[in-house]
Amino acid sequence: MKNDRPLPLDEKTSFKLSKVKQANTSTELKVRSCLHKLGFRFRIRNKGLPGSPDIANRRKKWAIFINGCFWHHHEGCKLATLPKNNKEFWLAKFKRNKERDIDVVNKLRSMGFNVLTVWQCETNNGYMLSLKLTSFLSGHH
Ligand SMILES: [Zn+2]
Repeated sequence: MKNDRPLPLDEKTSFKLSKVKQANTSTELKVRSCLHKLGFRFRIRNKGLPGSPDIANRRKKWAIFINGCFWHHHEGCKLATLPKNNKEFWLAKFKRNKERDIDVVNKLRSMGFNVLTVWQCETNNGYMLSLKLTSFLSGHH
């Protein structure tokens, strides 16, 4: 596909994207530490499952995706910005990402998994995050 060629990025955009990547990593750590505190056991980067969920427990049949608001274009979120250069490339990319997200969730659900998406912007409030995780996982201990 022609949209998959490497991106001609200017320096400012590359810098911004490197920060986005770091943000995602710390987002994942926040969710993991919250789950640990709540006493849930899980594995990370589950390559054998559709979409390689960031966090999952195969035996208990639940999976969590932690989505960066930029990459997965969180609707209505201020982090879901559209880069000024190559707008069409980005719009197509975000659309593909969204379609893949939906497809993967459907596959997992058809395998009997409960699936939760945690957005990057939802991890800033630890209390709200633990509420969200608790209600998703109630009954899955
Ligand atoms: Zn967001």
